[in-house]
Amino acid sequence: MKDTDGVRSTCPYCGVGCGVILRPDGQGGLHVTGDRDHPANKGRLCSKGLALGETVSTQGRLLSPTVNGQEASWDDAMQTVADRFSATIAEHGPDSVAFYVSGQMLTEDYYVANKLMKGFIGSANIDTNSRLCMASTVAGHRRAFGTDTVPGTYEDLEEADLVVLVGSNLAWCHPVLYQRLAAAKKQRPEMRVVVIDPRRIATCDLADLHLQLRAGTDVALFNGLLSAIYEGGCIDKAYIANVDGFDAALAAASIDRMDETGLDRRDIQTFFNLFLRTDRTVTVFSQGVNQSSAGSDKVNAILNCHLATGRIGLLGMGPFSVTGQPNAMGGREVGGLANMLACHLDIENPNHRQAVRGFWESPGIADHAGLKAVDMFRAVGKGEIKALWVIHTNPAVTMPDADAVRAAIAGCDFTVVSDITGATDTARLAHVLLPAAAWGEKDGTVTNSDRTISRQRAALPPPGQARPDWAILAEVGRRMGWHGAFDYETPAEIFREYAALSHIAGHFDRDFDISGLSDISDHEYADFAPTRWPVTKDRQGGRFFADGKFFTPNGKAQMLALQYRPPAAKTGPRFPFRLNTGRVRDQWHTMTRTALSPRLSAHLAEPFLEIHPDDAARTGLGPASLVQVTSPVGSAILRTLITDRVRPGEVFAPMHWTSDTAPSARIDMVVPDAVDPVSGQPESKAAVVALAPY
Ligand code: SF4
Repeated sequence: MKDTDGVRSTCPYCGVGCGVILRPDGQGGLHVTGDRDHPANKGRLCSKGLALGETVSTQGRLLSPTVNGQEASWDDAMQTVADRFSATIAEHGPDSVAFYVSGQMLTEDYYVANKLMKGFIGSANIDTNSRLCMASTVAGHRRAFGTDTVPGTYEDLEEADLVVLVGSNLAWCHPVLYQRLAAAKKQRPEMRVVVIDPRRIATCDLADLHLQLRAGTDVALFNGLLSAIYEGGCIDKAYIANVDGFDAALAAASIDRMDETGLDRRDIQTFFNLFLRTDRTVTVFSQGVNQSSAGSDKVNAILNCHLATGRIGLLGMGPFSVTGQPNAMGGREVGGLANMLACHLDIENPNHRQAVRGFWESPGIADHAGLKAVDMFRAVGKGEIKALWVIHTNPAVTMPDADAVRAAIAGCDFTVVSDITGATDTARLAHVLLPAAAWGEKDGTVTNSDRTISRQRAALPPPGQARPDWAILAEVGRRMGWHGAFDYETPAEIFREYAALSHIAGHFDRDFDISGLSDISDHEYADFAPTRWPVTKDRQGGRFFADGKFFTPNGKAQMLALQYRPPAAKTGPRFPFRLNTGRVRDQWHTMTRTALSPRLSAHLAEPFLEIHPDDAARTGLGPASLVQVTSPVGSAILRTLITDRVRPGEVFAPMHWTSDTAPSARIDMVVPDAVDPVSGQPESKAAVVALAPY
């Protein structure tokens, strides 16, 4: 939509999904302001959103395709990609190729990538960097609800009387949602906020209580809470008539393991008392819960407590996952994960597969889940994946055991990278580099953490020969022989097809249904205002599950019997410290965009290791000194930041720096590739390390 003096779009960073208004400055850049009409932010922006205009630049942009390091025409590059993928599939079968994509992609891009891989190539080897972000939430939602459904909305955080934030540094990672929460608490000082996190994070500024638990012990704590809910007579007996597994979950939920949390019993009791007596409770969780070898169990431990109390899907109540990336939710919805089909349909269900195949009129459809991210790169390393296409992400830096992933990609027979720059650790390993349109230049939709679909709109032309991802993917699909299926000319066409496909999901009683948008005209798509799904003839938006109806085969929710499991790696004499990793306030992922803003780089200019004063003294480390951080898989060099924000025995390092910005500080070189057995999400927050002065 073109405002009288600007273009309405959406911020490309976190899952809050703030609306922005873009005004070209006449010199190739943009002025960016918050959109007061967008329901996610109502005009607010955080430091990253405010600095967006500083990051729009052709500096470092990839402007034309290259093949084997030589500039090439689009025609040559596209034919090379199509021929190599076709030849590999013909010789080794569809599971010998893979796409690794990104929550930075727009829904229309994601839809075409998923359709090409699952429906036409016939493999489910498409996974996304969202696997590193919230796959455990997807698995937890599906186990409990039957679908990957976020029940509530952002308004619930403002309407709650108790907000519990678990492994979620909202102040830095979802700042506008934090601002909304802070404003609500200021208006209603009786609102209580509890932060559950191993570090004293910036979000603690808002907390009435901080439970600084030992890393990875959330299941022990929430099992204890479930037990306390029962003992306190707070089970909602009417609601749990709609829930299976209550008795088994309760039997497993002993309070005996709560000492594993390392918390003072009085603090635990204070939290339990607050939870027990507060109906309007929202539990927010993100990467501190998800990035764990027990991530799915942590999610279900939280969901168990909300199901047992019937606090779900009502105003100011519910479990609430906040996603890391701008379109992690859109990716989940189109089936961007290797174990999902489009529109929240299940790849393991033959009726779902048949319905999607029929809709796509495709020659076949993947009949089993594909390789999840860690397994995908292991398969690349073993030579089982022989052609790989990486889109808008940098796995050579961000995957756990990053040096092994880099070596795997370097050894792959054929690697394609689509990105806005050729200067990433992964792009440098590509045989074919494809220049993609960037935020501010591309058109499509994204879904934020509370199911609101918003438009990203172009305000600038792509530089050089850069093209939108959907157009690149569709061109390869056509050149691989599937003309009719990929004859798209606009993102609106793709969106209409996707919305029509979601009508099928409705037939299977799935949650995701935007069939009410399947007739959207080009003009309506151009003007599309933020809209929360579902969108059908009968319903728009709202909350899920207040009626006790779920998307499982028998319509009931499922509580799970959960046992606390410690992190996969054990500390010991050789590796006595536990390493947590995460974000800083003003950088995003591997800094491709945010490093272009001097204002953002001024916040924290270099990588660091937070270490407790007692540990620093014991290991002979002084303030701002260099420390070698060594794990069983790798080593990094960082600068110490001595602080009691971390627990003794635990250290923290940020994850943004790359070979270009701080070669010795790529922290994922140090993180091993242990994963949650259910979700496949890597345990990015519980490596074990040794520390020594460097
Ligand atoms: Fe962008 Fe997230 Fe900040 Fe909003 S809160 S402006 S979406 S980074």
